[in-house]
Amino acid sequence: MAHKLDIHIDDLVITYNKGKANEFNALQHIKGEIYPREYIILFGPSGCGKSTLLYTIMGGIPPESGHMWVKGEDIYAYRPQDMNRYQQSVIGIVYQQFNLIMSLSVLDNVALPRLFLGRPPAERNARASELLRRFGIPERLEDKLPMMMSGGQQQRVSVARALVNDPEILLADEPVGNLDSISSHHVMESFLEVNEKYRKTVILVTHNAAHLPYAHRVFYMRDGVMRRIAVNPAKAQIKRLKPGEAIETEIEQLTRLYPYLDPIELKVKSVVNFATQEVGFTELENMERWVLEVLKGSIDEETFFHFLSRRTSNGGMGLSEETSRMMAKKVFKLVAHSQDVRRFRETINEDDRFMHQKRYIDRIIEYLHQEIGVDASLEQKIVLQTAVGERVGGILKATEFEEKLVLPFHLDGAAFREHEAYLLARHLEKLIAQGGYKIQANELKGAHS
Ligand code: ADP
Repeated sequence: MAHKLDIHIDDLVITYNKGKANEFNALQHIKGEIYPREYIILFGPSGCGKSTLLYTIMGGIPPESGHMWVKGEDIYAYRPQDMNRYQQSVIGIVYQQFNLIMSLSVLDNVALPRLFLGRPPAERNARASELLRRFGIPERLEDKLPMMMSGGQQQRVSVARALVNDPEILLADEPVGNLDSISSHHVMESFLEVNEKYRKTVILVTHNAAHLPYAHRVFYMRDGVMRRIAVNPAKAQIKRLKPGEAIETEIEQLTRLYPYLDPIELKVKSVVNFATQEVGFTELENMERWVLEVLKGSIDEETFFHFLSRRTSNGGMGLSEETSRMMAKKVFKLVAHSQDVRRFRETINEDDRFMHQKRYIDRIIEYLHQEIGVDASLEQKIVLQTAVGERVGGILKATEFEEKLVLPFHLDGAAFREHEAYLLARHLEKLIAQGGYKIQANELKGAHS
């Protein structure tokens, strides 16, 4: 009989090393409900208890208290033979490390769980073969050892193996944690297919926020506690929702920007933004996309200006023409001048490095002067030159730099006023942040996936 819920996690507590000095509550009073054919992501920072929850669903870790109901049955009340049947044919699992048997062929790896069910060779091989095809593994690779395949292919073999006994629930523990971004994408698409086309419940553990859009609902965990269960507003839901449950609020938007924060911390961000900034999070997200293009060097100042002055609903910032001009100029100037920080650092092995370095430092100081409008005396400029050189060269820390600027001359300081020192330090840090190192092509690719 089909049960209304696939999984009902009921006030579950998991304790490791019970009664020993290192006793540890890895899960604390966890509650949750998962419906048939839902795609659920267990999400949270490393060590928050995601894998523990997954292996508890698998029947591998008896709870200290509470219950794990799967299809209406308390799995920890099972006799050993019932637990076997459950693990062989109700659930399948995919591990981060693939866990394929390296001495068996790809086909035998996939067919093995069927051997344990006592199925005849022809039947189990045909089934394994069919599944391999579904996940894009060609027939010619069936006789090969897993080692001869790429990581992404091996993981798709493990997905086929996990499904060979046709379980209703597929569990996955960081399944793309060891894969490059292209293979990750293929494997993540395979899980989506398992959920949508083969109509399986998928429960996937990840700490990568980029995966969240795949799920119907995300279970956010932290420190062994279920902090919040969030509905993905972009997917048609399987669970029947309460009115208002799927409306995208600013909090949901913030969740994407700051995936590890608690609900209360998100509310704090929302208020701080409201009190201190003219623009909201939609505008900031828009701006981030365009600044990325600026840093990649793929748009010019004029294009950036047009974006800033465009309406928010058209993906812009909705700023006045005057403000947009000023802001575009500021950003392009910052990026251009940050190159002097990089050039300064690249002179390290040159013979006449001090001459070059002095030129770059002079230009940086000129930039600071223009941006902040501080009128420095000759004496102040001399100290500033040394201090900027030491900060850019990594000898001074940011706080030490700022402190040095306010010290009096007789203590080797530059005798700037506190506010001037603050502005100089802040602007210099912006240059350093942009110019500290060259952006690599592969970093840019990942930046907005
Ligand atoms: P995640 O999957 O979120 O990274 P885990 O479920 O693996 O987290 O671990 C949760 C916490 O339980 C961690 O602090 C981890 O050190 C601890 N833990 C995990 N397995 C054991 C174990 N077998 N014995 C003791 N502590 C464990």
